Amino acid sequence: MTPSADDVLDALDPEQREVAAHPTGPMCVLAGAGTGKTRAITHRIAYGVHSGVYQPQRVLAVTFTARAAGEMRVRLRDLGVGGVQARTFHAAALRQLHYFWPQAIGGAAPEILPHKASVVAEAASRLQLRLDRTELRDVASEVEWAKVSLLTPETYAAAARRARREPPGMDESGMARLLGVYEEVKGERGVIDFEDVLLLTVGILQDREDIAATVRQQYRHFVVDEYQDVNALQQRLLELWLGGRHEVCVVGDPMQTIYSFTGASPRHLLDFGRTHAGAQTVRLVRNYRSTPQVVDLANRMLSTAPVSRRNAGVELAAQRSGGSAPTLTALDDDPAEAAWVAGEIRRRVEAGTPASDIAVLFRTNGQSEALESALSEVGVPYLVRGGERFFSRREVRDAIVLLRGAARTDNGEAALGHLVADVLTGVGWQPEPPASSGAVRARWESLKALVDLAESLAATTPTTRVADLVRELDERAAAQHAPAVDGVTLASLHAAKGLEWPVVHLVGCSDGLMPIVMAEGLDEIEEERRLLYVGLTRARDELHLSWARARTPGARPSRRVSRFLAPLSEVLGEGAISEPKRSGGGRGSGGGRTARTARVRHCKGCGAELVTATQRASGRCPACPPTYDEALYERLVAWR
Ligand code: ATP
Ligand code: MG
Repeated sequence: MTPSADDVLDALDPEQREVAAHPTGPMCVLAGAGTGKTRAITHRIAYGVHSGVYQPQRVLAVTFTARAAGEMRVRLRDLGVGGVQARTFHAAALRQLHYFWPQAIGGAAPEILPHKASVVAEAASRLQLRLDRTELRDVASEVEWAKVSLLTPETYAAAARRARREPPGMDESGMARLLGVYEEVKGERGVIDFEDVLLLTVGILQDREDIAATVRQQYRHFVVDEYQDVNALQQRLLELWLGGRHEVCVVGDPMQTIYSFTGASPRHLLDFGRTHAGAQTVRLVRNYRSTPQVVDLANRMLSTAPVSRRNAGVELAAQRSGGSAPTLTALDDDPAEAAWVAGEIRRRVEAGTPASDIAVLFRTNGQSEALESALSEVGVPYLVRGGERFFSRREVRDAIVLLRGAARTDNGEAALGHLVADVLTGVGWQPEPPASSGAVRARWESLKALVDLAESLAATTPTTRVADLVRELDERAAAQHAPAVDGVTLASLHAAKGLEWPVVHLVGCSDGLMPIVMAEGLDEIEEERRLLYVGLTRARDELHLSWARARTPGARPSRRVSRFLAPLSEVLGEGAISEPKRSGGGRGSGGGRTARTARVRHCKGCGAELVTATQRASGRCPACPPTYDEALYERLVAWR
């Protein structure tokens, strides 16, 4: 039965209901991890539709990742809503660019570069710069930063000096020249890059009033998730979509700003009230996602930040009860850590936990390889998120070629799932999983992910055709968001934002990886702390942290536990903070975690016993928080 507008509100707490039940006018939701921000905005859309205020096709919901967009579409479907556009900035812009290209520019839209590397290398060689692979990669990131910050070769140098950027292997004017040549090379090759998709859309909307009017007529209500990480280019696009209107709801958490290095800034979130007069601000503090132990650890970790960057007493209030303590385990070296994690996961999967309930998170993509081989060794299927591996797999590339062909002959007679399954038999698809593990199984998992994606698109929008599936795959390939397979998720902390899993392993919790060795100034170190906060708060039921004393077997143990975790021995135990766990010495002891008895203290407000150290320190229980506005104000001031 389709839920009514009131049913949609039932599943929310009073503050979330405030968000959902007022679907018009500018609104800003400022709240911590797992407090139901995404849920609140999804229900706001559903309420808007069911109460007749929104027409679904007039709503554009912008999410940070393609997976988040997919999850929002599914959540909306479960709330009886279809037809809402839930997309990343990139995917939404790409659609508009493709649609308006013939009218605005003429001809077919150009191909999108999957990587900047070859164009950057050509530009560097034309300028006779000798850059190694790492420098080329860093130059590509600098090009990205410049473009999302709306800089040109002419304005780059001054802005880079102000932002204290250090262009790799050259000074600011050298980098400005390289930017110019990079654009030339791209033009000669007739391709555009990832940022051009947004830049060109912005350009068209700025120059063509008629097109801007059509887009504004199409979309009347906007919702933006993870708004703390919006960059200047995305913000500009949003402003053009709005065209001076204020029908926008943004949600974000300044403590989860983790993309500053790519040009994102929480400034837009914090200034929202000023740029949208009369905006309503709603704050959420109840964490519904995680066990009290995980919430306590996350709160404590933020509370050990330097005073100027502290969370100013705004702490998450756990809503769930029960659960086990997070564990911290030290291993001898990286391969031993990967093997330990894989062994733990296998044991758990054999005991009945679905592999897809488990994630292994890490700081750098380079850490993925050891984990992949350790998981393959124990026969557990996995998927790397945010990596290009999925789309570079042979079977996936072949499957997409077949689907492109099928899109040309698809006459829409739309069981899409069956049609796709039929087409994919051409690359060896069969509905039953193969008995063997390893490569054959991995191949099957990839194809299953494509079939599942087709089925889920068809379930959300019954009119979906093969061409829509191919477009979705192109968008995902450009954004490097693989569809989910039924396996363990391997993801960088950056790629994990907004997501949650019942069991999370966070590996590499040592100084040098967490924070990363390149992070030097206070701003960079604190961004690393927020990244760890994002990681900790992905866990619903279990959180297992680990680190390795050395990189390779037999090497001198030279690493220390992460400086962010070292002060938390009261929760994590002394053992794994100071002593390495010997590989082969048994599994999963949690590295010497011990239960502590804390002095009983009572809340100043209501007299209830205080259960966490942070509560004991502040003298207040979650029901009687310190005056929230003061605390939030301090927190925001710290951000400016
Ligand atoms: P993040 O900061 O990580 O993006 P978030 O604030 O967007 O988190 P959600 O993902 O919306 O949080 O919600 C976290 C979890 O809590 C989800 O599993 C969601 O279903 C659940 N949840 C949120 N609000 C409620 C509620 N009122 N009752 C029960 N469960 C809830
Ligand atoms: Mg969210």
